[in-house]
Amino acid sequence: MDIRIEPGDITQIDTDAVVNAANSTLLGGGGVDGAIHRRGGPEILTACKELRATAYPDGLPTGQAVATTAGKLPARWVIHTVGPVFAKKEDRSHLLAACYRNALLAAAEVGAESIAFPAISAGIYGWPMDDAARIAVETVLATAPQVEGTVREVVFVPFGASAEAAFRAQLDA
Ligand code: ADP
Repeated sequence: MDIRIEPGDITQIDTDAVVNAANSTLLGGGGVDGAIHRRGGPEILTACKELRATAYPDGLPTGQAVATTAGKLPARWVIHTVGPVFAKKEDRSHLLAACYRNALLAAAEVGAESIAFPAISAGIYGWPMDDAARIAVETVLATAPQVEGTVREVVFVPFGASAEAAFRAQLDA
């Protein structure tokens, strides 16, 4: 598996799949979620509403992942996953790892050969960037054998200089 870093705006990346750090309502929000829905157009929200009406009436649980159309984005699929809100008193790392693992498995299931990830939970949800980057890289490496043959390329898309430094430190480690 080829793993690389492409800093900037994930809505511009032309991997087969891009991951959305969604919230459980799947109905849009701020940060990367807002950017994906704005640029991708209304088709994505329509698909999300359909998911809420069928498979996820109570919303998408934290740590799970589901694919929809990517609308007008260069990508073909958006894989929505719900990161955990960071908590000082409770270790929710397993839920953040589950986001990366389940997003990769969802990508393999639809047949995506390449996938781009934002720094899930490291924005509005408050996860410290260095730790978020560590979990991201470790989990992708650990899951690679399970998606071998389908997902060949993983792109981390840090947004901003400190995010970029955190991901570079992990990949160089
Ligand atoms: P969460 O609620 O999971 O924390 P956010 O969207 O608030 O999700 O933030 C996750 C990360 O995505 C943050 O590091 C934020 O800076 C980054 N981000 C925001 N917009 C974009 C974008 N257009 N492309 C890539 N990353 C983005």
